[in-house]
Amino acid sequence: MRTRNKPWAKDRIESHPHYIVHEPESKKGLWAKEFNNTNPIHIEVGTGKGRFVIEMARANPDVNYIGVELSESVIVMALERLIEADLPNVKLLNINANDLTTIFDKGEVARVYLNFSDPWPKNRHEKRRLTFSSFLDLYKTVLPEEGEIHFKTDNQGLFEYSLQSFSAYGLLLTYLSLDLHKSGFEGNIMTEYEEKFSKKGQRIYRCEVRYPK
Ligand code: SAM
Repeated sequence: MRTRNKPWAKDRIESHPHYIVHEPESKKGLWAKEFNNTNPIHIEVGTGKGRFVIEMARANPDVNYIGVELSESVIVMALERLIEADLPNVKLLNINANDLTTIFDKGEVARVYLNFSDPWPKNRHEKRRLTFSSFLDLYKTVLPEEGEIHFKTDNQGLFEYSLQSFSAYGLLLTYLSLDLHKSGFEGNIMTEYEEKFSKKGQRIYRCEVRYPK
């Protein structure tokens, strides 16, 4: 996501620890306490401006959502949206997905969402794709047995690559749509990128996969 550098973002983030959790490693194994309930925790990796997690949280008050985002300048926009929404079941983490296993215990995350992940089309950047095998290792470490990943994108190349990566890893495909908006799928919450690309007439690909027992 291209955004201008925002020098004020750091201060803004630091002044809202209730929403953008500081030192999230210290919460490992304690996320239920952080949310003050034992509801399942779903994370979106690469949450961008946060529309998906916030609207999912509004629609599903019995699920806790955590948006994980690398870029300070981007997550600060999710923070503004969250302040406005004022929901108790959303937190944001300004971290790299590489650090997920230092932040969550095994089974502490009930589901992983990947929405419009950066495609990194060059072969030499394969390891940066959030559906590369090393990331599948990390998700496996924080999910329970038979944990799920829900993935959507407008990028056909990334989608095909990801299906192959999931399959090679031994994940089970439980849902597939090659044109989500014409599929009759109910309850879809659009992300910022999804709205932008679907307005341009691009189709949206979506799948759900599950780790085997
Ligand atoms: N999910 C949002 C949507 O659909 O509108 C944003 C999509 S944007 C193309 C991808 C986002 O993933 C960017 O904001 C980027 O900074 C973030 N991202 C990429 N790699 C990441 C990583 N390793 N850890 C955390 N966030 C990452």
